[in-house]
Amino acid sequence: MAKVAATAMFAVVALIAIIAAAVSGVVAAIFGGDDSAASSQPSPAALADIPGNYLALYQHAAATCPGLDWTILAAVGKVETNHGRLDAEGVHSGENSAHAAGPMQFLQPTFTWVLEQAAGQGKHIPPGGATPPSRYNVHDAIYAASFYLCMSGADRGDLYGAIFTYNHADWYVRKVLDQANAYKAAQQSAPQQGGWAVPARGTCSSGFGSRGGEFHRGQDIAAPIGTPIVAASGGTVIDSGPASGYGLWVRIQHPGGVITTYGHNNRNLVQPGQQVQVGQPIAEVGNQGESTGPHLHFQIDVGNQAADPIAFYQQQSAPQLLCG
Ligand SMILES: [Zn+2]
Repeated sequence: MAKVAATAMFAVVALIAIIAAAVSGVVAAIFGGDDSAASSQPSPAALADIPGNYLALYQHAAATCPGLDWTILAAVGKVETNHGRLDAEGVHSGENSAHAAGPMQFLQPTFTWVLEQAAGQGKHIPPGGATPPSRYNVHDAIYAASFYLCMSGADRGDLYGAIFTYNHADWYVRKVLDQANAYKAAQQSAPQQGGWAVPARGTCSSGFGSRGGEFHRGQDIAAPIGTPIVAASGGTVIDSGPASGYGLWVRIQHPGGVITTYGHNNRNLVQPGQQVQVGQPIAEVGNQGESTGPHLHFQIDVGNQAADPIAFYQQQSAPQLLCG
């Protein structure tokens, strides 16, 4: 029996480790990166949902902890008591059945311990709260929550651990992270890594789909020989040279399992392994291979499946549509 129990226990521990690793990856994807020290801007949803005094407190309190974005703190406040709006025992007075109280739902021993630990690191709740500090006071509670998350891992980039310490449940961590992401405005200054450009100026001729008993896997753009062909998006050149049917082709690998192919070229300007930027010249329009006139055969494969380039460009909200 003991052995069975130990095996089951190991399975549970392993499962938790796997879930933790998976969530950590998500955390890194959403909140990680070198710019994590820069606090994010509130999304319209955040401005609509978070009372003004709470928003200011979340932002100021999170600023005491490098690595803690205010959206995490605000998400904890949302999940715990809906920013103090929750009409339940223990929010404004008394305690709930688990002895938690106040807008950030602290146990009294935890609240006291957090403030002692923070004081040991020279961190104190700034003036503006109760005397002595109270877990029912929104100012004190939010600063204490920031200190707690910080010392629980946020200060060393372990957001999962920090939120898990606040409430030991994987669903809770996910809920907080989802809420935090909803509070975070889309970063408009992010580099246009995923931007798409029209690969050649010309006239859209033969389109994607069935054509004379065979399937045309790309969009043809008719243009004079020598017309520049540019990279449709940034990526890595994976092929540049002769290819059956295509005459001379270039293929570029992009993020997200997307490959673009440029065929019937007159001349190629890039080498395999080369990194290219969106709009960078990579070849010239030609009339080589199975071609009935000078044109670019432009093909987009997503996960090894040819996609209609016109529909793809519409989905990408490309600045210009591929045709027309
Ligand atoms: Zn074609």
